Amino acid sequence: MQVSRETFNEVMVPNYNPSAVIPVKGEGSRVWDQKGNEYIDFAGGIAVNVLGHCHPELVSVLKEQGERLWHLSNVFTNEPALRLAKKLVDATFAERVFYANSGAEANEAALKLARRVALDKYGPEKDQIISFNQGFHGRTFFTVTVGGQAAYSDGFGPKPGGVQHSDYNDLAALDEIMSDKTCAVMMEPLQGEGGIISPTQEFVEGVRDLCDKYNALLIFDEVQSGVGRTGDLFAYMGLGVTPDILTSAKSLGGGFPIGAMLTTEALAAHLKPGTHGSTYGGNPLGCAVAEKVLDIINSPEVLQGVKRKEQLFRDTLEKINDKYQVFAEVRGKGLLLGCALNEKYKGRSRDFLVASTEEKLMCLIAGANVIRFAPSLIIPDEDIIEGLASFERAVARVVNG
Ligand SMILES: *Cc1c(COP(=O)(O)O)cnc(C)c1O
Repeated sequence: MQVSRETFNEVMVPNYNPSAVIPVKGEGSRVWDQKGNEYIDFAGGIAVNVLGHCHPELVSVLKEQGERLWHLSNVFTNEPALRLAKKLVDATFAERVFYANSGAEANEAALKLARRVALDKYGPEKDQIISFNQGFHGRTFFTVTVGGQAAYSDGFGPKPGGVQHSDYNDLAALDEIMSDKTCAVMMEPLQGEGGIISPTQEFVEGVRDLCDKYNALLIFDEVQSGVGRTGDLFAYMGLGVTPDILTSAKSLGGGFPIGAMLTTEALAAHLKPGTHGSTYGGNPLGCAVAEKVLDIINSPEVLQGVKRKEQLFRDTLEKINDKYQVFAEVRGKGLLLGCALNEKYKGRSRDFLVASTEEKLMCLIAGANVIRFAPSLIIPDEDIIEGLASFERAVARVVNG
């Protein structure tokens, strides 16, 4: 059956507006479309393809598990799920793991856990959840309400209550709305969708202190920042601030859908049998792949490689900017980088994205003012250099109209 981009308009719900090209094959950081055009991938499936496309070790573990056991449901546990959980617990502050299939579901579990802990320990008045403007936590109704962009949560009727927003990196504003009624503060330790915004050290430490002061739980949404993306296994490690609950997804499966919520034994105890669940959560295929992803990423070579590749990106982007004067700054950490456009190009990130695609480079945006790169963490240096040469041509296109 022949399908094309037109088919999308004929059979799909129009909540997305995908690119005109349809990729059909990927290998490492290269992708080919229906017409055989080759692209360099700096998008990584939105910070997901942490080991590029079709990494041989992931393909092999997926095939092996695919011939062994696909699915059981949580009526049974399974070996890949238990091995992965052990490795996650060994590698982080956490002592207990809950599996989901996506970032939103991992966050949904985190929020429900926080509410249940507050209810059990302090009573129904302690229900306030605070999160930050521009933050993104997924698209279920609870998580999108906690997210800090009203445009995503408006227009669906009454929202879950008890949610309040504050400005990121404004500790005084947070202090003002926090009280003993605060159940949890949810934040990204590096805002992704909101524009690649790093927290100041003072802010993130201050949030931890305020949570301690008011017996509120600190939830780090590391769906985008986790699994090596910033050059640390999780961003909290680089910040030296430990949350009570951490969520992971995206990179965790390297392209196979999986999410996880990590927490302490004492908090986990509040989700007693029957209180929460997922049919697919922890399925053997996803967990087998994620276990391999974690094995590969959680190594000094890969994590140091991320920091080195970040520098290569920054040095080259600086040269491009010296020539064309388009960015106010290049920000972010590790291989989650944002080029924030200056006054002159304000609001035009999509133009750079379209020009990049024409130059056979896949990249992302984070709002109207930021071009975002979230490539494979093991992207070869040659592909970075070649991809940035394409990006320079795309910048020239936009600059020259
Ligand atoms: C992508 C993302 C989510 C949502 O993950 P899904 O898998 O799309 O549900 C949640 N939080 C952050 C920080 C994200 O970047």
